[in-house]
Amino acid sequence: MRTHDRLHAMPRIPLASTPTPLQPLDRLTRTLGGPRCWIKRDDLTGLATGGNKTRKLEFLMADAQARGADCVITAGGPQSNHCRQTAAAAARMNMQCHVLLGGQPDGPALGNLLLDQLLGAEVHWVQPSERRLAMDELASQLRAQGHAPYVIPIGGSNAIGALGYVLAMFELEEQLRRLDLHVDTIVFATSSGGTQAGLMLGARLVGFAGTLLAVSIDQLPDDESDFKFAEHIRHTASCAAELLGESIAPDEFRPEINYDFLGDGYGVVGCLEPDAIRLLARTEGILIGPVYTGRAFGGMLELIGRGAIRQDQSVLFWHTGDETTLHAYSNDLAE
Ligand SMILES: *Cc1c(COP(=O)(O)O)cnc(C)c1O
Repeated sequence: MRTHDRLHAMPRIPLASTPTPLQPLDRLTRTLGGPRCWIKRDDLTGLATGGNKTRKLEFLMADAQARGADCVITAGGPQSNHCRQTAAAAARMNMQCHVLLGGQPDGPALGNLLLDQLLGAEVHWVQPSERRLAMDELASQLRAQGHAPYVIPIGGSNAIGALGYVLAMFELEEQLRRLDLHVDTIVFATSSGGTQAGLMLGARLVGFAGTLLAVSIDQLPDDESDFKFAEHIRHTASCAAELLGESIAPDEFRPEINYDFLGDGYGVVGCLEPDAIRLLARTEGILIGPVYTGRAFGGMLELIGRGAIRQDQSVLFWHTGDETTLHAYSNDLAE
C-alpha cells in the first residue's frame, strides 16, 4: 500500500474543517516590500475556534476510542491551546476531559482557561514541573474508580499526533499544485515538536523542496538543555514514519530550528509580539496570539529584516491558532 493510502487508512475522527484556507498576504507583502507572503489558516480548523492541535487530535482521539477510553487526560499551561482543543474534542465525543494546568488560579478565568471551563473540562492545578507525573497519577486514580482514561502527552506530540501534520503537508502540497504556487520557506511556531515532526515527515513524503523553518517558542538547543528537543523531533518523525510502514532513521531528519526569539521565556510578552500582532492585524485583518504565533511571526519579520529570508522569495506563515489567548494578555497588548 502506498504511504498516502496508509495514512488515509489510519483510524481518524474528523474534527477539523479541512482543507484550511491558503491565503495571499498582499498588503503585508507590499508593506514589507517582499518576500511574497502567504498564510495557511490552521486557526480556522474550527474546533472551539481552531488551532494546530485539532489535526493531531483527529488521530489521537481515534486511538483513544479504539482503546475503549471513556475519558482523556492532558496537560499544558493555564492558557494552553492544546487543552482547549482537547476539551472540545472530548465534548464532541462524549468523554470527560481532565486538563492539568501548570500554575495556580489567579483572578478571573480568561482566554483559554475560561473556554476549558465552558467546554466542561475538569481543571486540575499542578506544579508545572510535575505535569507529566501528575497525569500518570490521575490516570491510576481514575482506573481505580473503574474508568478507562487515555493520556494525551503535552501538545499531543507523539508519533500518532504527528500524523495530523503529515496529512496537513499532503493538503498543502495539493493546494500549492492547484494554484501553481512555489513556496521557498514555511515558517511556524514550535514548542512540543509534534507539528514540526509531522511537517518534516510529510515534506519528505510529498517531496516538498522548500525549507521548513521552525521558530522555537520555549525550547533550547540540545547542547544547552537536558531535554534534547531536536532529537525528540527526529525520533517522533521516525516513529510516525514507522506507523506508515516507512523505515526512516531519526538521523535522516534535519529539523531546522531558530532559537533567537525566546525572549524572557514562555508566555512572557516582550516588544516583538505586540508589534507583530498589530502589523498583521492592521495590514490583513488577521489575529495572531501573543505566546506562539505572535512570537513566530515576529521572528519571521526580523529574519526578513536581517536578510536571512530573502525578499525575492516566497514565504508561507503557518498560523497555528491562538488568538483566543489575546484577552488574557490585555495588560501586555492594550494601548
Ligand atoms: C502548541 C502550539 C504550537 C506548537 O506546536 P507543537 O506541535 O507543540 O510544537 C504552535 N502554535 C500554537 C498556537 C500552539 O498552540
